[in-house]
Amino acid sequence: PSPDPQAGAAVKAADRAHVFHSWSAQELIDPLAVAGAEGSYFWDYDGNRYLDFASGLVFTNIGYQHPKVVAAIQEQAGHLATFAPAFAVEARSEAARLIAERTPGDLDKIFFTNGGAEAVENAIRMARVHTGRPKVLSAYRSYHGGTTTAINVTGDPRRWANDSGAAGAVHFWTPFLYRSPFYSADEAEECARALEHLESTVRFEGPGTIAAVILETIPGTAGIMPPPPGYLAGVREICDRHGIVFILDEVMAGFGRTGKWFATEHFDVVPDLLTFAKGVNSGYVPLGGVAISGAIAETFAKRPFPGGLTYSGHPLACAAAVATIEVMAEEGTVEHAARIGESVLGPGLRELAERHPSVGEVRGMGAFWALELVRDRETREPLVPYNAKGEENAPMAAFAAECRKNGLWPFVNMNRTHAVPPCNVSEAEAEQGLAALDAALATADEHTTA
Ligand code: PLP
Repeated sequence: PSPDPQAGAAVKAADRAHVFHSWSAQELIDPLAVAGAEGSYFWDYDGNRYLDFASGLVFTNIGYQHPKVVAAIQEQAGHLATFAPAFAVEARSEAARLIAERTPGDLDKIFFTNGGAEAVENAIRMARVHTGRPKVLSAYRSYHGGTTTAINVTGDPRRWANDSGAAGAVHFWTPFLYRSPFYSADEAEECARALEHLESTVRFEGPGTIAAVILETIPGTAGIMPPPPGYLAGVREICDRHGIVFILDEVMAGFGRTGKWFATEHFDVVPDLLTFAKGVNSGYVPLGGVAISGAIAETFAKRPFPGGLTYSGHPLACAAAVATIEVMAEEGTVEHAARIGESVLGPGLRELAERHPSVGEVRGMGAFWALELVRDRETREPLVPYNAKGEENAPMAAFAAECRKNGLWPFVNMNRTHAVPPCNVSEAEAEQGLAALDAALATADEHTTA
């Protein structure tokens, strides 16, 4: 596509005049005007092309503009663009069936929402009605969405300005050996101590007051920390013993991201409720949902579920989900993500860690990786402090700017960069991303003190 800076300037001007952006001080941001996107790339109006190592916000699991999904949306629009949620509609029925076929265990009923936060909101609502209990336990290192309950159970600083005190949210520490809250020496110890911590949190909060424990199967925005073997099974056991609903949030980790349809398959654990969004249709049309176990579905068999949405299971979004799941199955996208993680991204990122003193740890699997950037590998002092702003955050801002200069759009959060390209990223694209990270890490290395 040929550059058109004038068109870009008009898009930007209207944005600056009228668009109010998420999570931002409106005058301190400078949104890039995007002209188009295809596969793993997008481009601006000045002719700059970027390899999207953030997959948007970790949702374009099959990349941009997949022709089969675009065609399915067009076809659905031509046939039945919208319909109210109380009816049985082909695209909705089919999407629910394809999702339920892939969710683990007896998670066989699907409540559709417009995104991840609403999925979390409704999963918690189901747990509260099912148990008749008010509280929800969640991880300090977590992100669950921007609506009231979802942001209150979230652990990152975006919660602070939203803390309502009314949401019954109680936070606890989850395993993270690199920055162990339990002073553990190894993964087995971290797992045991984290479970003991959860058990005593439950005991002191009062088991009879706790509706749910909600965890991201693998925390995403908070740093891609795969839990140690046995941890999620241990949480499952604690929940069972106390009659607590176990919710796994797979909004980011689900639909191929980790090299399985759902991340929980790596750990052989079946939650009572599983939330999803993002990758379910690669974000082409807003969609999320809750997959519901038999026991919780039974609670609402004869008694109405006290929740609903005008666009629950919107036909355009569901048609996009059906096409996305079919494309992923046909093209082996999930298996591809596993392979690219094992053979290209994992080894490549570990190789970068060997050469760059600013890389403290590499974690992840599939198309889901984090680099923890540090000033000092020994002390593990983060490259920037927790929740750094402005000048304090300059080393990370410079790192991100250097990535963009090298044609890579990075995902950055606090002192981390995440390598989270589309799950169908090619080997050559992954290599290109690694090379751009390599070049940008040189700027991070300048801030190391060791
Ligand atoms: N849960 C997790 C694990 C997420 O990563 C996110 C978004 O990043 C959400 C929930 C919220 O999803 P949404 O922004 O679609 O509401």
